[in-house]
Amino acid sequence: MEYKHFSHEHNLNLYRVQAGQQFRCHGCQMMCNDSIYACWRCNFFLHEHCGNANRYVKHPSHQLHPLALVPNPTYCSGSFLCTGCGAPGNSFSYCCPPCEVDLHVHCTYLPPNVNHKAHQHELIINFTTGEQAGNLDQHCKICTKQLNSKNWSYICSRGECDFKVHTYCATSEVKPGLYQDDEPDTQIPAQNPNSSTGAGGNQPQKTGLTPEEALAEVMQMQLQMQMAQEFAQMMASFNLSHLAP
Ligand SMILES: [Zn+2]
Ligand SMILES: [Zn+2]
Ligand SMILES: [Zn+2]
Ligand SMILES: [Zn+2]
Ligand SMILES: [Zn+2]
Ligand SMILES: [Zn+2]
Repeated sequence: MEYKHFSHEHNLNLYRVQAGQQFRCHGCQMMCNDSIYACWRCNFFLHEHCGNANRYVKHPSHQLHPLALVPNPTYCSGSFLCTGCGAPGNSFSYCCPPCEVDLHVHCTYLPPNVNHKAHQHELIINFTTGEQAGNLDQHCKICTKQLNSKNWSYICSRGECDFKVHTYCATSEVKPGLYQDDEPDTQIPAQNPNSSTGAGGNQPQKTGLTPEEALAEVMQMQLQMQMAQEFAQMMASFNLSHLAP
């Protein structure tokens, strides 16, 4: 069975990765396990979920416009800075060029809530960025490095805890050396963490759609939810295998 992906000129075959084999996904630049789409001629590989990622998503972090999946960054530098995690990327991204929103595929499908052993309560994803994010000089409670107010975070689902962490720290997806630590450690009085709660905006929007369009939209959302759940499960199993001795 052959597949065609819009980002590659040749047909791809679904292949099950065997133990000991190493393939890097062209879509997200992460290592592949499980099933991949492969072009053996070019050594081009995609995670099954990266290959199946929808061309457009309605993302709760950017309700104004759908985000489009592009195989290469839209910037002439050839790379983008992810709005979600702040790390650069140079392959697939979900983007809204007029608003300069760019997301890694895996950041697009970050789970809405996670549990982390560093905190007793559930953490929820926080899309509030910029001035609305409040205190601009906060440090991640897991890695202790600075949080960038331009990027997302995970915060404690209970308002009273001042617990805020990097998305990749909450999901144990550690990328060392990402933030410079040489910023002066000026103390700004902490603000009410409640004011930075921006998650959970996943409600369907009221638009002038016909019932058919609305239904198609709902099905699309359900697909996205399913994909996010699968991704969360994948992340969870990844974390578990990480914790094993
Ligand atoms: Zn991938
Ligand atoms: Zn090829
Ligand atoms: Zn990212
Ligand atoms: Zn936009
Ligand atoms: Zn961190
Ligand atoms: Zn808490």
